[in-house]
Amino acid sequence: MTTQVFADLHGHAGTTFAEVLRRNPGEPEFHQAVHEVLESLGAALAKRPELADAALLERLVEPERQLMFRVPWTDDTGRVRVNRGFRVEFNGALGPYKGGLRFHPSVNLSVVKFLGFEQIFKNALTGLGIGGGKGGSDFDPKGRSDAEVMRFCQSFMTELYRHLGEHTDVPAGDIGVGGREIGYLFGQYRRITNRYETGVLTGKGLGWGGSHVRTEATGYGCVYFLAEMLRVRGEDLEGRRAVVSGSGNVSIFAIEKARELGALIVACSDSSGYIVDDKGIDLEILKDIKLNRRGRIAEYAERVPHARYVAGGSVWEVPCDVALPCATQNEIDGPTAAHLIKHGLTAVAEGANMPCDPDAVHLFREAGVAFAPGKASNAGGVATSALEMAQNAARTSWTFTDTDTRLGTIMRDIHATCLETAAEHGDEGNYVLGANIAGFLRVAEAMTAFGVV
Ligand code: GLU
Repeated sequence: MTTQVFADLHGHAGTTFAEVLRRNPGEPEFHQAVHEVLESLGAALAKRPELADAALLERLVEPERQLMFRVPWTDDTGRVRVNRGFRVEFNGALGPYKGGLRFHPSVNLSVVKFLGFEQIFKNALTGLGIGGGKGGSDFDPKGRSDAEVMRFCQSFMTELYRHLGEHTDVPAGDIGVGGREIGYLFGQYRRITNRYETGVLTGKGLGWGGSHVRTEATGYGCVYFLAEMLRVRGEDLEGRRAVVSGSGNVSIFAIEKARELGALIVACSDSSGYIVDDKGIDLEILKDIKLNRRGRIAEYAERVPHARYVAGGSVWEVPCDVALPCATQNEIDGPTAAHLIKHGLTAVAEGANMPCDPDAVHLFREAGVAFAPGKASNAGGVATSALEMAQNAARTSWTFTDTDTRLGTIMRDIHATCLETAAEHGDEGNYVLGANIAGFLRVAEAMTAFGVV
């Protein structure tokens, strides 16, 4: 583990951060996420000293509840395996805890806490009445059969169900958790509780309570935000050369929407390497490999002769004008950002959670690169989850077009909120500051109204 060096935080933010470091040792991702938010709040706290007096920051960085549990399951050879399950119910001031489940070998308490912490502000920005939480497991679904994934999900839910409820805590997907896993989890929840509580999970199948556009929402929403950020600069996506990292749901639908708006997407990646297709990625082939057959991206170059596959490297070696990091945290560091800037980068919209590290974000700002932080630009996924909950509560289902229109409006509203909040706090065009302060103030308002709880 590399030791992180954090810029000094002053006053109340500084003492809060020192306490976070002391109380949460060995959790670098969580420290990073907290530092980034605290760094933004100075101007807001100066205007609202009563928030500091009410220990808002100290309460905000302490999760309301953290669950860790054993998940035993049996693999196809009959061997018993043991994983660790997590759910961090971080902040419920604005609504039921809401946030995805990540199944990936890198998952640990630090990762879940960083994601849960980010989710508080992201969810507040949507304006849809959802609190922040996150969960998951170090289970690796890669190479596992459907039956193994089912047994794992059933065991995971057998513990988690007692903490969930449509008004309590509503998980969804994240890396490694998609429609298949949500199906197994929902099936087990219904079986254990004997309740058809549709709104207890989101990302469900369309035939059993799912919402149109939920699958596409994070990727589409990210591009809606990007398009809006370019629009206010008098620009658009037409003819722009873009690179998208990853090749999961977020990436694929970001590619789809960016292409629709005229961008040429020349590269994307998976955990084994990346592909470059200068004619623009063929989405039908990519979807077939990744969504239908859960295959490796290397196959793309076998099926598209003019494309090339690079094993092991970083997709950010490919020069581009627009970058959409949609894979995972800290995929773009300082040197990578410097390389991208040198080769003509002008805009970044984060589709993943915290894919750009603090050095990278700093360099983007210095170079005048338009930068959309994930808390704002990837909020379309969880926003559409909240729309799914609304449809479930009303026992209704909206059309694709209706839901997509609502998503577009939500993303433009989030964009406007970030921009206005940044301007009000003296840092025009700083979306990081705008997103953090706007999200914070919404949560702080509710927490203040509730008293010391
Ligand atoms: N995992 C997604 C996120 O990072 C979606 C969460 C949800 O839909 O609850 O926001």
